[in-house]
Amino acid sequence: MIMNVFVGIDRDGTIIKDTGNRQYLGRSEGWENEIEFLPGVTTGIKALRKIQGIKIYMISNQTGIGIADFSDLTEERAHDVCKEILKRLDKEGAALDDYLFCPHISKHYITKHPERKFDPAYVRECDCAKPNPGMLFAAMKKDGMAKGKAHIYMIGDRDSDVETGLNAGGIGILVPSESQPGHDKKVLAMKNPSAFVAKNFEDAANLILNRESLSAGRVPE
Ligand SMILES: [Mg+2]
Ligand SMILES: [Zn+2]
Repeated sequence: MIMNVFVGIDRDGTIIKDTGNRQYLGRSEGWENEIEFLPGVTTGIKALRKIQGIKIYMISNQTGIGIADFSDLTEERAHDVCKEILKRLDKEGAALDDYLFCPHISKHYITKHPERKFDPAYVRECDCAKPNPGMLFAAMKKDGMAKGKAHIYMIGDRDSDVETGLNAGGIGILVPSESQPGHDKKVLAMKNPSAFVAKNFEDAANLILNRESLSAGRVPE
């Protein structure tokens, strides 16, 4: 039986840089100039395309939408940012199939950020916020992939990204970022054979290629 392959990739700190000004991208004008791909991302995505029928989505929590201080970061603005990122990846020959984001704020998130004010319209316990697997399943459904007949991977720079992959019954791969230090230790502490720490994005892509029985050697440069 041919298995479908679905890969979710986190946005901030995994596809694009999210340090300093770049945090909560879209909250201020000039955000277009702040988009910068992290090393190995375009090469890694191109390599993943060697897997026949693969679907690759950008999957992110965009809690900034519900943070009251960021009045310019509306849901519409968040879509603009995501669409622009996909457009630029496409230009680099590293097209994604689509993107999904969760705009919700959980009670847990509010407790963790007492310094913030939130828009009550977005405060909700949802099943899409990572580490819930809702966005992965929604994306797969959109592409006609049945849960039990697909290999699911989630790549990201936080332990919650890895947990999202695991919660979907798949593989979680951490690509450590400078904005989220210490997450490698958290992932290793999970001691879960489906949780991996990659050296960088290309390494994460190669891990998937290897698991899908395509040797990294067959991937053209
Ligand atoms: Mg991230
Ligand atoms: Zn949500």
